[in-house]
Amino acid sequence: MSQTVTLSSSKTTIPLIGYGTGTKWFSGDNSKPIDKDLVKSVHDALSVGYRHLDAAEMYGTETSVGEALRTQSIARNEIFITSKVFKNIENIEKACTDVLTRLGVDYLDLWLIHAPFFDRNKISLEKAWQEMEKLVESGKVKAIGVSNFQKRHLEELFALNPKIKPAVNQIELHPYVYKASRELLEYCKSKDVAIEAYSPLGPLTFKSDGPANEILEKLAQKYNRTPAQVLLKWNIIKGDIVITTSSKRDRLEDFLKTTDKNFQLSDEDVKAIDDAGAKLHFRKYWTKEIDSQ
Ligand code: NDP
Repeated sequence: MSQTVTLSSSKTTIPLIGYGTGTKWFSGDNSKPIDKDLVKSVHDALSVGYRHLDAAEMYGTETSVGEALRTQSIARNEIFITSKVFKNIENIEKACTDVLTRLGVDYLDLWLIHAPFFDRNKISLEKAWQEMEKLVESGKVKAIGVSNFQKRHLEELFALNPKIKPAVNQIELHPYVYKASRELLEYCKSKDVAIEAYSPLGPLTFKSDGPANEILEKLAQKYNRTPAQVLLKWNIIKGDIVITTSSKRDRLEDFLKTTDKNFQLSDEDVKAIDDAGAKLHFRKYWTKEIDSQ
């Protein structure tokens, strides 16, 4: 079973490893029919011990996740569910209600602004955040946070003196973006904003010939784990919650085993991964918006 950590601003408990329903499962259209493979995979994830599901209005997968939730027997309050708003940011309350309907639940554990790169002429960050806060007050969501926020966006948000501080910042985080994220990570730590690392397996999935490959293989052998497990552990050791996914039950099981406290990487090995990752800057998502500013 997945371990949990407590989010400082809301006292909500969140499982350390989340099952993502974007990327591989992305359809981008909430009117699409149910994806039976995703329903089965969510059932696999729950049955091997995942208790944390990551969704977003943008993914077009919530109807399938809702179907998976309706057709299993774990109680709602044992599953941590996140969704995110972006497309319908001008009407956050309705966006949330629609998400709840598609998922077939009456609250979300975590509700995020998917990215800061929305049209500020349509809604200001201040107004958007106030709308997010109202949903906590009305009980539709337990905690609120952000995703893909860079330091300047968080500074903008904290300068508004929000009633409720962002509990998390969900960002792409693997060795090839670690160096570029150091300042942001330090800022989040100073503000008690937990990091959720998405695409933690980036070096295996996007850059299998990249400079971290050799050390990941070497450490996998040394610790008798897979390179994917080494990457997940690297993120966990940095203090991050990780959001991963797989269509393969065996891999899902392996990923969960990285929370095993008997599996640790030495400081030296963590640094070797940092150093190898620093040789390449590669970001898969929101590249134009983040790296060109
Ligand atoms: P990961 O880096 O964990 O990659 C998961 C993918 O890796 C799966 O497609 C899996 O495929 C594949 N994989 C697993 N093991 C290996 C291996 N050994 N070698 C090669 N490929 C492997 O995460 P994702 O990038 O998929 O993102 C996870 C989740 O994070 C998303 O689903 C979404 O919920 C969230 N996310 C959020 C974003 C945001 O803007 N907030 C942006 C992107 C993602 P297989 O099925 O074959 O195992």
